[in-house]
Amino acid sequence: MIPVIALVGRPNVGKSTLFNQLTRSRDALVADYPGLTRDRKYGDGKAGEHEFIVIDTGGISGDEQGIDEHMARQSLLAIEEADAVLFLVDGRHGLNPADEMIANHLRRSEKPVFLVVNKTDGINEDIALADFYALGMGELYPLAAAHGKGVRSLIDTVMELFAERIAEMRDQIEFNAKGIRIGVVGRPNVGKSTLVNRMLGEERVVVYDMPGTTRDSVYIPYKRHDKDYTLIDTAGVRRRKHVKEAVEKFSIVKTLQAIQDANVVICVIDSHEDLVEQDLHMIGYVLDAGRGLVIAINKWDGLKKEDREHIKKEVERRLGFVPYAKVHYISALHGTGVGDLYDTIEETYESCYAKWSTNRLTRILEDAVSEHQPPMVKGRRIKLRYAHQGGSNPPRIVVHGNQTDALPGSYKRYLENKFRTVLNITGTPISFEFKSSD
Ligand code: GDP
Ligand code: GDP
Repeated sequence: MIPVIALVGRPNVGKSTLFNQLTRSRDALVADYPGLTRDRKYGDGKAGEHEFIVIDTGGISGDEQGIDEHMARQSLLAIEEADAVLFLVDGRHGLNPADEMIANHLRRSEKPVFLVVNKTDGINEDIALADFYALGMGELYPLAAAHGKGVRSLIDTVMELFAERIAEMRDQIEFNAKGIRIGVVGRPNVGKSTLVNRMLGEERVVVYDMPGTTRDSVYIPYKRHDKDYTLIDTAGVRRRKHVKEAVEKFSIVKTLQAIQDANVVICVIDSHEDLVEQDLHMIGYVLDAGRGLVIAINKWDGLKKEDREHIKKEVERRLGFVPYAKVHYISALHGTGVGDLYDTIEETYESCYAKWSTNRLTRILEDAVSEHQPPMVKGRRIKLRYAHQGGSNPPRIVVHGNQTDALPGSYKRYLENKFRTVLNITGTPISFEFKSSD
């Protein structure tokens, strides 16, 4: 699973600045699940070829009473979840008693720690660093987060720790994870484990027990109607069957790792509750990660007619921003609608990875234009000449023409709809790029 890096340090040392540099994602996930407190932010990290999850914390401050309890707790939780910790200090302010206190915490955590001296832009680096050797935390890493300076080499160094693990993970995926990789995510108690068990317990499903798939492997390869799939079991369903342990504590990190590892993600939502921000963030996160999205509204059994109508309205109102994702109303408990998920999973996967010829895309463009001409601009009609595929997952279509800068949003939406319908694209956004030769 992909590595998790926590950013720790007192307030104002530049943690959020670094977080934004590393993630640049629309939807940072904020831990506001029941039982968790609010002040940790989670994001998808990218630096060069490296992919990881970043956790930002409010920070640990020193005040008269010692530490701010709440913030300290956040940081400690983040440290617990992390594989490596970036401990940020302020190169302009020098060593601070709060830094020493944090260093003490980190020494006890036994996680790999990188002492990062931030804000070294425009000052003498050697002088800025000198103060912090006293912390006795090994090598120092100078950084200017605000300018992105030093970020890349820092991350290169951190990720060296995980090179072996990432290679192993790739091997595991390559050898054991067959077919489409399906992630199942959702808030606690929405029915993820029930759904995973139901999917694996269906008639005609054969779960492989392959050499190399250990009991606690999170990848569960299986065959259904002669097709291979792999479920990513973050809920620990399989392990729980053997050891009678308590339900594993819900973890955002595991959710994010499952999304990263999957091709298609089923977001499970509980129909007995209204949709909450966290559901929407999770969906946003799946889209940001460029994964295929399927929505399953669970516990559809035993709902009264008016409750069903209510939740359908909720879905319409709140999921309007993902009109292309198919919504399934299911009962994981009874199995109703679970089999139907597969058609959508297949369609979504195909949509994400499809390859279309320039001929085909250009024909669709020509049909669209002849049905409905683009508007005139300054007495000249906008011309759209041809289209080709610029990428997949998510699919990108590049349209070439004249004066495309002047193309109104409404026409772009018309084109998107056209391409989406003709190519049967489900569960993923399509991005368009317009190129103009004048
Ligand atoms: P946080 O409280 O640790 O999350 O700190 P922020 O990221 O909010 O940064 C605190 C302040 O330091 C902001 O005003 C930033 O613009 C500034 N800052 C962050 N990184 C740098 C840097 O590399 N150089 C300089 N000069 N200022 C920075
Ligand atoms: P998870 O925390 O998301 O893995 O949720 P679980 O699978 O552990 O389910 C939480 C609770 O919801 C359990 O008591 C399940 O029996 C119940 N549950 C799950 N799916 C359904 C369903 O389709 N209908 C009903 N009525 N209850 C369900």
